[in-house]
Formats: sequence, structure tokens, C-alpha cells
Amino acid sequence: MQAKELVNQLPKDEADMCSECGQPADNGEGWDGLCGSCADRVENELEDRRSCSA
Ligand SMILES: [Zn+2]
Repeated sequence: MQAKELVNQLPKDEADMCSECGQPADNGEGWDGLCGSCADRVENELEDRRSCSA
């Protein structure tokens, strides 16, 4: 299956909702389906993981 077909299968109605807290994620601060605050939290967790393995 090609990537273009996968994108077309995504439910567009959920594109602007945070997959973590369900809040609207259309403020431009979030990424990967997350709102700004959830994206920040995930980013901090990734940073922690990175510093642990270093
Ligand atoms: Zn959120």
C-alpha cells in the first residue's frame, strides 16, 4: 500500500483533536495528533528518555 492511500484513510474529523486529552489541537502548537500541552509533555518524556540512555 502506498503512503498516499494511507493518508486518505485517516479520519479527517479527528485530525484537529488531541489524541491524548481530546481537546482541539488546532492551535498550531501541537504535533502528531496532540495539542500543544500534550505535545510538550511527550517531548519532555522523550528528552528524559534520551538523557537516561546517554
Ligand atoms: Zn492534549
